[in-house]
Amino acid sequence: MRVPVIAANWKMYKTTGPAVEFVQDLVPRLGGREGVEVVICPPFTCIPAVASALFAEGERGIGVGAQNLHWEKEGAFTGEVSAPMLRDLGCSHVIIGHSERRLYFGETDLTVNRRVLAALANGLTPIFCLGETLEERRAGITLSVCATQLHFGLEEGISAEEAARLIIAYEPVWAIGTGVNATPGDAEEVISFLRGQLMKEYGSEVAERVRILYGGSVKPDNIGPIMAQPNVDGALVGGASLQAESFAAIVDAARKR
Ligand code: PEP
Repeated sequence: MRVPVIAANWKMYKTTGPAVEFVQDLVPRLGGREGVEVVICPPFTCIPAVASALFAEGERGIGVGAQNLHWEKEGAFTGEVSAPMLRDLGCSHVIIGHSERRLYFGETDLTVNRRVLAALANGLTPIFCLGETLEERRAGITLSVCATQLHFGLEEGISAEEAARLIIAYEPVWAIGTGVNATPGDAEEVISFLRGQLMKEYGSEVAERVRILYGGSVKPDNIGPIMAQPNVDGALVGGASLQAESFAAIVDAARKR
């Protein structure tokens, strides 16, 4: 039985004050959280403040993640942040290959792969994002695009044991930040297909263990039917993760699945 994951992607929002206020507002709202894992991925600059605020609230069960990392552990890479640096701040997770990074920062399947390998080698759980554009969906190539991103993102030296630790986020690009979410059926179709691909590459035990999330305009009022799909194991939430009230409502819906 896979435990659902609800992960917040704050993107480039919040300075430390509002980040701490968010945590103080969120923790009492969550109450019991059996049956769901929660991860908050703030901007790099807020990671220590969020980790300290969670500690101060007595909250030990919420993971803190980054939104990117560099694959080298150190070096002359101005502006970059490495996996050991993220571990040093208390990160447990890292988002890799988000479509905004692919679109605006030249991220490719090759660089995604390097980052996934670096995360795994340093004990971070990758939240590996993939998904098709609107043009690709209209052209009827959604599944092959997602299969390619999955295959090359995980290429080279990922053992079955490491693959089982992955979290994958299926995020159709046309649904991110647009208010147009994929139908629960669309999400289930692609996510069950991805699980099938994992089965072919790593076997059924790994495929059954990997959590595959849906992301794209998830809100408290649409999470229910999405979570009801048998292969959907949670959500990567952008806009609705910026307010404690809406994020807590999404966590609650996942817990009740
Ligand atoms: C995201 O940033 O990964 C995302 C899914 O954003 P939103 O929920 O705002 O569509």
